[in-house]
Parts: sequence; structure tokens; C-alpha cells
Amino acid sequence: MSDTTSPFGGFAIDFGAPGDAAPTDAVAVAAPDGPHETSVLILGSGPAGLTAAIYAARAGLRPIVLAGYQPGGQLTITTEVENYPGFPDGIQGPELMLRFRQQAERFGTRVFDVEADRVDFSSRPFRAWASGAEYRGQAVIVATGASAIWLGLPSEERLRGHGVSACATCDGFFFRDKAVAVVGGGDTAIEEALYLTRFASKVHLLHRRDEFRASKIMQARAESHPGIEIHRSVTVDEVLGEESVRGVRLRDVRTGTTSDLPVDGFFLAIGHRPNTTPFDGWLEKDEKGYLVVEHETHSAIEGVFIAGDVHDHRYRQAITAAGDGCRAAIDAERWLEEHGVVEAVTATAR
Ligand code: NAP
Repeated sequence: MSDTTSPFGGFAIDFGAPGDAAPTDAVAVAAPDGPHETSVLILGSGPAGLTAAIYAARAGLRPIVLAGYQPGGQLTITTEVENYPGFPDGIQGPELMLRFRQQAERFGTRVFDVEADRVDFSSRPFRAWASGAEYRGQAVIVATGASAIWLGLPSEERLRGHGVSACATCDGFFFRDKAVAVVGGGDTAIEEALYLTRFASKVHLLHRRDEFRASKIMQARAESHPGIEIHRSVTVDEVLGEESVRGVRLRDVRTGTTSDLPVDGFFLAIGHRPNTTPFDGWLEKDEKGYLVVEHETHSAIEGVFIAGDVHDHRYRQAITAAGDGCRAAIDAERWLEEHGVVEAVTATAR
């Protein structure tokens, strides 16, 4: 594997040549035609989607995974993962997701690096469309995860890719010996701020409240780091700069006064939004916009299952998403058996 970093363009992961990981059915390249048929169609390729694929593939269901616009999911834009069991020395997020994918492909999963933009869950086989091709599954596992949230300022939008980024791992490299700002008060913001100290001359951590939402250990790390300056109770009115970021205009929420802070980079780390757009009108959402699970991993539509961050706003961890993917694959497999779509192949496959 190699990591391809492009200036602000994001982080493309080279998952290796087709066949690198799989002795049989290796990576498939999306064809413009179709339909592509499978027993289990998995939408999303983060820990939930790829764990579901490992289980479904080992059960002989030859799943198809539509990997989405960010193959590997959110862990591919993070750095060190220290809390995934089995890696006592930690592992880089992209490396961990590469291993997930190789493991899924090893058992015959077909992975297409395309994003599902539309679905039809009105009857079986369920259908999804991506890059003009049609994919059909007797069962579907929705594991599309969540994406970064932006502040929504016009200046932030205008300077996106010109110093504004939601991914320190992708773009931090470009801010060597420069001052940068990170917005947010959760674990992600602190993780990003700590990561950026590797490059930046100064990291300003901007949080809108006095109290941090982040875990105590992460907060202590930020507070004790000489390269991080914490600004509490401030919001961002505007990102400054014409061609590229030159600073941020801050507002003290206690006094209402504004001040300009010169920085060359502006990183967002204020949370995530579930990726549910293709399922509008098909799957129910809760008040926060996350998909609703009826029982276990079943959605309200029989044969459509839900796993990972697209429904989970409580735990949102790689390990919980992976566990959810496992549950969804087992539920899908049992459901397919009960409906006579596939023979009970599990015993021989395991
Ligand atoms: P989060 O915990 O929801 O925190 C989001 C932060 O952004 C909050 O501090 C919030 O402020 C702030 N925020 C939200 N909207 C804002 C806005 N419009 N303007 C300014 N600030 C805004 O999200 P997260 O940090 O991405 O973490 C998500 C989950 O992943 C958490 O459960 C976290 O523990 C976990 N995580 C764990 C690790 C780790 O263990 N290594 C690393 C990363 C994430 P308020 O506090 O005022 O609401």
C-alpha cells in the first residue's frame, strides 16, 4: 500500500493491484454496465461494511461492497489508532482499513470503488445505482457511515482546498512551520491538534465553550503540549484571506468582542453527519438524522439491515462499528436462509 497525499485534495489510498490480497475473486473494477448481482449488497466500506463483508463472504454469500467516495471510511483520514484491540503498539488508520479490505477480498468479496447515489428498496432484489451501473442484492446492509461537518461560513466554503480542511492527516503536511487553527472541543479536535504539532509552528485550538467534550486524557495531552494554545469560549465569525487562508476572526462568546488571529491553515473537527441521502424516503431517520434500527440490525424494510455510524451516534468507534457489521451479516444470512434465498451454507463455509 502507498498513501498518496495531494495538496488539500484529500488522501487517496492505494489498496494495491487487483489480486494483491485475494487468491480468487480479487478487487473488481466498476464496469459501466450491469446489473451486478449478489446475495448481500453492502453499501459502505468502513469497519462496519468490511466486517459485514468478511462474515458474509465466509458464509459463501459472495457479497458486493460499494465502497463509497472514501473507501475505508473515516479511519482512512485518521492517524494512530491506539484503541483497536489486537494492536498493542497501535496501528495507522489507513493500514488498519487496508487489512480489513484484504481480509474481505480473501474470501471472495467483490469491492467496487463507487458511491451508491440512489436505491430502490420497493421489492427484491433490492437495487442500488452507482456511477451509472446497477447493483442488485437479495439483502442489503447499509453501512455508509458519517462525514465531517463544516461550520457553513461562506469564507470557509470559498477557501476550502486553499487552507481550509477537515482532515489534518491529509493536509497537515502542507503547514510545516506555519500557524494553524483547529475548531472543536471533542476527541477528534484534540487528536487533530496533536497531530498538527508535528508540522505546524503553532496550533491554536478553538472551542466554543469553557468545558471540553473530549476525554480527560486527551484534554490533558492538549493542555500540556507546548505547541498547542487553547482558546476557550470563542466562535469563528470568518475565515480571512483572499486566495488562501491568512487568519480567522474570532468572537469571544462572553464579551462579544472580535479579534483576528493570523493562521495559514484552518481545520474543522466539529463532528460528523450520517451519510443517509440515498435512503431518503426509504429508511426512517431519528431526530439527529441517523437511521433507525427496528430490532437487532433490521430496518423497517425486511431484508435491509443497518450497521455502524450511519445509525450509531452514541459509540461511534471502529470496534463497535465492526461488531455491528458482524451482527448485520449474521442477521442478513439468517434472513436469507429463512426466506429460502440461499441454502444454509454457513456450516461448510466456517
Ligand atoms: P464530538 O464528540 O461530537 O465533538 C464535536 C465538538 O465540536 C464539540 O466539542 C462541539 O462543541 C463542537 N462543535 C460542534 N458544532 C460546532 C459548531 N458549529 N461550531 C463550533 N464547534 C462546534 O465529535 P468528535 O470529536 O468527532 O468525536 C466523535 C466520537 O468519536 C466521540 O465519541 C469521540 O469520543 C470519538 N473519538 C474517539 C477518539 C479516540 O478515542 N482516540 C478519537 C476521535 C473521536 P460542544 O462541546 O460545545 O458541543
